[in-house]
Amino acid sequence: MRNFQPILKEIYASATNLKDKGTVASYIPELAIVDKQNFGIHLRTVDGHEYAIGDYNKPFSIQSISKVLSLTMATSLVGNKILKRVNVEPSGHPFNQLALLEIENGIPRNPFINAGAMVIADILVSRLQNPKEDFLNFVREITNDISIHFNESVAYSEKVTGFKNYAAANLLKSFGNLENDVDVVLDFYFHQCSIEMTCSQLSKAFYLFANKGKCLRNVLHLTESQVKRINALMLTCGFYDEAGEFAFEVGLPGKSGVGGGIVALLPHDFIITTWSPGLNINGNSKLGMQALEEFTTKTQLSIF
Ligand code: GLU
Repeated sequence: MRNFQPILKEIYASATNLKDKGTVASYIPELAIVDKQNFGIHLRTVDGHEYAIGDYNKPFSIQSISKVLSLTMATSLVGNKILKRVNVEPSGHPFNQLALLEIENGIPRNPFINAGAMVIADILVSRLQNPKEDFLNFVREITNDISIHFNESVAYSEKVTGFKNYAAANLLKSFGNLENDVDVVLDFYFHQCSIEMTCSQLSKAFYLFANKGKCLRNVLHLTESQVKRINALMLTCGFYDEAGEFAFEVGLPGKSGVGGGIVALLPHDFIITTWSPGLNINGNSKLGMQALEEFTTKTQLSIF
């Protein structure tokens, strides 16, 4: 059995020694009040071993990391039909950019930019009986943890400041790429982003992407080809404008969120989650990026 604890200790120490811990996201007021001294790392191997250090058991706002989970649920419900309404190309532009959406006639570049995630949210709203509750239960089930919840203050904070997200949703609607009302889709979207989870819960939730589509409990089974595609999207589109840099420096599929979380994984081997709320200029966790770069460099464990 490999022992990852010493390497986690090492990368934790060098990341926490960084003087510049990045800047906490402030465009969502509730996120601006999170202490940027928080830093946790959690690693789960496919064969069930866990290693962790720091604040790995503190819940934080998963934000855009939720987009992988909503895509997973939508894939399990409607399969490849999703691709008629969302593309699979990196955008090369900020996650909330509007110009590209207009030029490309309301078909978002990928499911991980905001507009793409709104189309996925729309699919779930159309398909589910109680959309928010059913999605939360889905996340709880794949994680095997009923304590996971929405943070209503974060969802509300985004609702009252989310002018650009309203603009994107209205643009989608004007192109006929939303079936439901803008307000209903955004209410779902703000809630999915407000879900709070710990590093250790996220490593569990993402287990299926490292385990050929089978999650911890047998509540969901994506096909190997569906998992391959979601992993490919994480690699090419999971880190805003820095997806190339993340592939170059870290070499793992993964997803980040403006709450400061990053989940990355090596198929058939492990899932590693970091959380530190201070972000770099591209919106990715500063300490998390550095720790993951050091992890794959030192262990030589990457997909390349
Ligand atoms: N809820 C955030 C927004 O829509 C998600 C941003 C993110 O984590 O990338 O702006």
